[in-house]
Amino acid sequence: MGCYNHRYQLHKTTTNSNMSRAGRPPFLFLLLLLFMCLLMLSPLCGCHPQSPASIRSTLRTESNHTARGGSTTAAEVAGYADVAKQIIDLAVFGAAQNRSYTRLARFTDTIGNRVSGSHSLEMAIKYMYNAMAQEGLDVHLEPVKIPHWVRGKESAEMIAPRAESLAMLGLGGSVGTPPEGIEAEVLVVQSFAELKHRASEAMAKIVVFNQPFVSYGETVAYRANGASEAAKVGAVATLIRSITPFSINSPHTGLQYYQDGVKRIPSACITVEDAELMWRMAQKGQRIVVRLTMAAKTLPDADSFNTVAEIRGWQHPEQVVLLSGHLDSWDVGQGAMDDGGGVMISWEVLSLIKDLGLRPRRTLRTVLWTAEEQGGVGARQYYDQHKVNMSNFDLVMESDLGTFTPLALQFTGSDAAQKKWSNFWLPLIRPNWRHTEKGQTSHRGCRQEYQEPACMWQTVDIFGSTTAKVIP
Ligand SMILES: [Zn+2]
Repeated sequence: MGCYNHRYQLHKTTTNSNMSRAGRPPFLFLLLLLFMCLLMLSPLCGCHPQSPASIRSTLRTESNHTARGGSTTAAEVAGYADVAKQIIDLAVFGAAQNRSYTRLARFTDTIGNRVSGSHSLEMAIKYMYNAMAQEGLDVHLEPVKIPHWVRGKESAEMIAPRAESLAMLGLGGSVGTPPEGIEAEVLVVQSFAELKHRASEAMAKIVVFNQPFVSYGETVAYRANGASEAAKVGAVATLIRSITPFSINSPHTGLQYYQDGVKRIPSACITVEDAELMWRMAQKGQRIVVRLTMAAKTLPDADSFNTVAEIRGWQHPEQVVLLSGHLDSWDVGQGAMDDGGGVMISWEVLSLIKDLGLRPRRTLRTVLWTAEEQGGVGARQYYDQHKVNMSNFDLVMESDLGTFTPLALQFTGSDAAQKKWSNFWLPLIRPNWRHTEKGQTSHRGCRQEYQEPACMWQTVDIFGSTTAKVIP
């Protein structure tokens, strides 16, 4: 099998949001991850369909044949419906109800944000190592060198045409300003094309990008490359409209890159409201002056770790199904959604498998990446450290694109593999998901997870209607 990457995400910028924004959703993601894992564990293992009575020993004991053919494998998968039901029952109605959410709250309340290179990130790694070890999981740390960027004190003020304090957040990796700040006239543009067209106006100015939000994937180019593009035409700093379709005067930070050979100028994000305000002022011909002050700096790389926990496979321990989230966050908020939620559901999968006494044929491994926000640094180094054995990785999953109601699963792999997994997992997931959907009317305890009345229906719809994109 090749290496597949499931990403599962809605958006990926960081604000000053706190734990309350994480809401219920980790639970939903958890179920998805469980389904995915279960199906990865079963269809390749050549087991017979099982009766409910033998679920507990199923994954560990059946090994008479190793059928990988389509129809046989499909039958095997279908045979795990009872296992899936048992997992759902435990997670939704049983002792594990709300556990991942409780874990997330405790973790983020205790550690807070945990930017790459910070003491709090190292505290987070210790926290998770200890928590998973105390549960009896097989845990270890793998060393990684990570960037160490420090925000420092920062501010932005409009000086003219009137005084206004601008909510801002410096962008990750940005250089700082001189201590007295940079005070300059502003050039407001709405696109890179407009900047190019008005290049002669940009010299010695602060370029404000007021690009409309199209999608995170498309619009983030302004945050990532805005500073270098502005520097090429002589700008002294950039202020970039936050990459979000929604704002209540909330700036979003994130990573930005400097292009080789281009002068490095300070770069910060501002709110949608202020970017539009300055755009309207500029349209009226008003002269805008802003003072930007940032004490940001980059220190030498720091020592850190990827945190690895696993349940070793009983038959093929060298073969791995990997699921993951990232422990680091930005240095604002608590990193509950990005990516505390992904971390907790990746842990919870192991917990549920363990609680049920199941042991997979292949190793089920949770990796909590470090320094993901700095460009996937932990994951890249993990790949370098393990690429010699990459053929043993059957499936790689990551939850890092939001922790709200599931909308879709992204899949990278061959068409044949995509089709295979799509065909196998649907028969298993449908009846079990419907079971949980019924549950919300009869189990008071599960109401919390189902606050959004349509969430389960939506999920069922996704499973049933987007097979081209969804892989078990
Ligand atoms: Zn993330």
